[in-house]
Amino acid sequence: MQRRFLDAMTLVQENGRPDIFLTMTCNPNWKEIVDDLLPGQTAQDRPDLVARVFHAKLEDPKVQLLKRNFICEVGAHVYVVEFQKRGLPHAYFLLIMRPGHKMTNPDDYDKIVCAEIPDPIKYPAMQDLVKNHMIHGPCGSLREKSPCMEGVPKKCRFRYPRQFKDKTSQREDSYPLNRRRNNGVEVNIRNLKLDNRWVAPYNPKLLMMFNCHINVEVCSSIKYVKYIFKYVYKGHDKQVIHIDQDKENEMINEIRRPTCFEDIYTTNGVLHPTFRKSALERGLIVTDDNLSQCLAEASLFQYPNALRRLFAMILIFCEPGDVRKLWCDHYDSLSEDYRKQYACSKRVQNMVLIDIRVFLQSLGKKLSDYGLPDVNEDINLQARGLMGFGHKTSYVLIQTLMLGSRFLYYTCKLSKAINPNSSIWKSILTYN
Ligand SMILES: [Zn+2]
Repeated sequence: MQRRFLDAMTLVQENGRPDIFLTMTCNPNWKEIVDDLLPGQTAQDRPDLVARVFHAKLEDPKVQLLKRNFICEVGAHVYVVEFQKRGLPHAYFLLIMRPGHKMTNPDDYDKIVCAEIPDPIKYPAMQDLVKNHMIHGPCGSLREKSPCMEGVPKKCRFRYPRQFKDKTSQREDSYPLNRRRNNGVEVNIRNLKLDNRWVAPYNPKLLMMFNCHINVEVCSSIKYVKYIFKYVYKGHDKQVIHIDQDKENEMINEIRRPTCFEDIYTTNGVLHPTFRKSALERGLIVTDDNLSQCLAEASLFQYPNALRRLFAMILIFCEPGDVRKLWCDHYDSLSEDYRKQYACSKRVQNMVLIDIRVFLQSLGKKLSDYGLPDVNEDINLQARGLMGFGHKTSYVLIQTLMLGSRFLYYTCKLSKAINPNSSIWKSILTYN
């Protein structure tokens, strides 16, 4: 995810700011979903079906929007699909138009985005679609208990109802205000009459083609890139589980009448050092594949020292079943920097182990707790430059913000072994 976010930022750097922000939400009443429900079921009962249909349906808008330039000439794009534990899946698209095809004035915006209820006589089908998918609320004074109402005093967090406007207007460094004429056209929702102030902006062609909520907004900021990758900041789902020793019979169903922790750690009469190893032998978990994948993915964009810290964290908190295999499989990545500095393989291994030992010691653990080779204290197998200063290294993240949206990150490993007058350090300090 981190990598994709950086890719997206590079795309913006190369092609300019996004022009269109589009959100497409699954319609639980799509025929493909309704036809496959069992009697008495609703779409909420079948997240598997909903996710599958949405995934399949998404292929068409991708082709129409990105290859056939259905609503605009697309030069570059980013999209993210979000499957939630509750709620319907949705996809976010950021479209960057080709140079020469960008929207520059309110007339251009009106050709792509509409925020009004269609005329019921001229466009009855279109009005039904807007009524079904694109009307927000009711909320505000009409329905104060609507989930979108927040704060004191309570206000709609999506800023509905909006103001009537005779014409679309452009604003400096912000999204435009869409035309919402006070023309008397209304739709009836929950026995309330709602007018153009309640319409979420849409593109008529897309709405007609896909029959679901497709919100189309003109955007002018790179903040949308961060928004669609918000999970980079939230981090992945995680949970802390505490096993109460008195309740182990309830927690561990797979083991017959365990009376102590030794029972849980024992498989086929062998007492294993970790719960994970025991579970592995018992066949309750397959392998350490997920931990190995984690290290493999991190090795693509992390420096070796960060990988060594991650390796130590995995040992302590994830209890790999086969530490030696994990060590061997990822040794090349863990030792990459030392291998470039030292020809002697024994010294390289020693240096890697010294770093991992430092991380383990900071959390009260030792290399021998995990069956890793011990550090050879022979001074010839350690880095000469670092000997006088212990193993203190510091990481300095220098973030240089330059030329508007262009930015560069430099991560520089500093230690007293590196000459502060070295060309690398000088070039970073003088870069502008
Ligand atoms: Zn609202």
